[in-house]
Amino acid sequence: MPTSPPHALSHAIELIRRTSVTPEDGGCQDYLESVLAPLGFARRRVDAGGVTNSVFSRPGDKPGCLAFAGHTDVVPTGPLDAWPHPPFAATVEDGVLHGRGAQDMKGSIACWLAALEGLLAGAEALPTLQLLITSDEEGESVDGTIRIVEHLEAAGQLPDAAVVGEPSSLREVGDTIRRGRRGVVQGTIEFVGKQGHSAYPDDADNAVHLAVGPLSRITAIDWGQAVDGFPPTSCQITNIEGGTGAMNVIPGRCRVTLDIRYNPGIDYAGILSRITDACAGVEAVIALQHQANAFSTADGPLLDDVCDSIRRITGVQTRRDTGGGTSDGRFLAAAGVPVVELGLTNDTIHQIGERVRIDELETLTRIYADIITHFEVQA
Ligand SMILES: [Zn+2]
Repeated sequence: MPTSPPHALSHAIELIRRTSVTPEDGGCQDYLESVLAPLGFARRRVDAGGVTNSVFSRPGDKPGCLAFAGHTDVVPTGPLDAWPHPPFAATVEDGVLHGRGAQDMKGSIACWLAALEGLLAGAEALPTLQLLITSDEEGESVDGTIRIVEHLEAAGQLPDAAVVGEPSSLREVGDTIRRGRRGVVQGTIEFVGKQGHSAYPDDADNAVHLAVGPLSRITAIDWGQAVDGFPPTSCQITNIEGGTGAMNVIPGRCRVTLDIRYNPGIDYAGILSRITDACAGVEAVIALQHQANAFSTADGPLLDDVCDSIRRITGVQTRRDTGGGTSDGRFLAAAGVPVVELGLTNDTIHQIGERVRIDELETLTRIYADIITHFEVQA
């Protein structure tokens, strides 16, 4: 087993201390440059819409290009006085590093840096390496990784594979990787009737009553089965709003919100047509938005190699999962890049008191180094 470089913890501390609530970068990517430039990486800025984006790249001494993709922004802290340690102080106590971003995902960026430092100190032949880093993952994600991918596509420099450092692990590092994510469709349906006095229903058209038929049809839609390791598509009604608040007024409008998580067995057009069919015969304004594409990386060399690396370092058998929300991996996958998500444990992400065990940083650093060392271009 290779010895782990001691630097992951210090990089994580440096990054957490640079306050970077989305879409701020807080100087994190300048810090990355200060570490990576001496290792032979060039930085290209791909800033867009006030978002800091960087491509760090280093030419390889063997074929193939492996990217690490990640984000330097973090979610807001919530009430500061509820934090046991200040969220941007990066306090180390009893083998645990405390701070916003410790798990999601400054910690894993720190591990990739430490892995590179360890490898580049040796003489081993390495592939071309990229770090694709944005400060817009936790927010809108409209000027982040998607802009980096567009830039790489235009330059003909898309990587052969990408490791996304999102915290994929459940109980111990490497027990779970993500090989895809469900897609997301969200939006509203507004049922339109006519407001009136509830004692005079003939002069009104109750929008809540109009909604009942379509909503029961929507909840009864058969979205199909689990496919390709994904859970079944699910459509949840997340809000119903109608009426004026008065007991004696028939509502003229009823507004419903939907959240649909879909697997690759259906696409946006298919979802839209099912919802539209369910509302047939009723005046309804349907405003759905396709928030994120479903994506998946097929079983094959990338996933196998990553699982092999995890097993060599930890002995852990890895689950290949597609759960959770969406991730920036979707933008790389949409460009045809095989993507795997592997990071720290995720039990405190986005929470008050986010933290990570320091031994996890060391383990993930060794796994990342093993992945880089064994990376081969896919035939
Ligand atoms: Zn994240």
